[in-house]
Amino acid sequence: MAQLDTRQKLAILADAAKYDASCASSGSTRRDSRGGKGVGSTEGMGICHAYAPDGRCISLLKILLTNSCIFDCHYCINRKSSNVRRARFTVEEVVHLTLSFYKRNYIEGLFLSSGIIRSSNYTMEQLVEVARQLRDVHDFRGYIHLKTIPDADPELVHQAGLYADRVSINVELPTEAGLSRLAPEKDGRRIEGAMRDMKGAIDDGRDARRKYRSAPKFAPGGQSTQMIVGADEASDGDIVVRASQLYDRFSLRRVYYSAFSPIPDASAVLPLKRPPLLREHRLYQSDWLIRFYGFKPKEVVAATEDGMLPLDIDPKLAWALKFREQFPVDINRAGREQLLRIPGLGTKAVGRILTSRRWRKITLDDVARLTVSIARVRPFIVTADWRPTLLTDRADLRTLVAPREQQLNLFAA
Ligand code: SF4
Repeated sequence: MAQLDTRQKLAILADAAKYDASCASSGSTRRDSRGGKGVGSTEGMGICHAYAPDGRCISLLKILLTNSCIFDCHYCINRKSSNVRRARFTVEEVVHLTLSFYKRNYIEGLFLSSGIIRSSNYTMEQLVEVARQLRDVHDFRGYIHLKTIPDADPELVHQAGLYADRVSINVELPTEAGLSRLAPEKDGRRIEGAMRDMKGAIDDGRDARRKYRSAPKFAPGGQSTQMIVGADEASDGDIVVRASQLYDRFSLRRVYYSAFSPIPDASAVLPLKRPPLLREHRLYQSDWLIRFYGFKPKEVVAATEDGMLPLDIDPKLAWALKFREQFPVDINRAGREQLLRIPGLGTKAVGRILTSRRWRKITLDDVARLTVSIARVRPFIVTADWRPTLLTDRADLRTLVAPREQQLNLFAA
């Protein structure tokens, strides 16, 4: 490997990390360094949020320890057979960079992943050592997200949870068939086993903290995972079902969906074109429907067409158009679960409706103040002064309520 300075390594290893979508820092406990103790905080003002050229949030220092790897996953730019420029940070370099960026208020924490060098255990040791030095040597109180390696010794993976706010283990692909075809060195059962162990350790950590305040925190931000979308044949329906199984089995905080990007020197088994980014967005919307709107995975799947979520309308509207017999919903009488099914009304709007209707009848104007477009909500609701006669049954309802495609104005404020 040619001698590179820190800046060159950073350019290579931050770029290599951009394919990882999991960059949210939600769900962590609050720490700060008020009173002159420690460095950093997981809350407070002045945190810079940056966006990579493809629009992904990189508010954390998001890097790989190295982009060299002994594995050869077809979809990965860092795979053994890839012809990319390689670089590797030392543990001390990552620690130094994190502290320097943090003190300059460029970042709110560190997201650290790595290709696998020498062995899974060796790589995991290095990742844990970065987090250990930050916490134990420098009293770093900012956010740390560590990617863990499912093949590594469970004790090492456990240590990651003692230092990191959040840990993640990528399932990579939605189906077992996709994993064996595109990442033959990875083992789906091992990945799930590591996630199960992590869930057990997180639960134990929480129990211990409930009993003893002095018990160490263990991955307070929980665990997450990432699925690559569009590299194999898995449909949106397959992905939705798989994600909900993962949430149920391993109590995940988040499943991230990352639209597969064609990479330089791509393997011939990969599709030539990336899936539309909108597909990733629709999957996130369906994820929210299941987590916050009371939809069951099979209901989201029922909203698909041949297994795929429509791209021109959101999944909630797609479901409403397919199951019109559930509408119109009476805004003044329906329960929360039914209100949450109305396209165009979010959880906050529903909360406001439930509060306001205790005091008076809700009118169409009231609902208009809670939504972006009352024209799109109207066919699905009944209010004190509105009932959509035959509107819900119209054959052209989809055209009436689908958002119009607009040419974005480059110079709009
Ligand atoms: S193990 Fe990770 S870094 Fe290595 S090739 Fe597979 S996905 Fe890429």
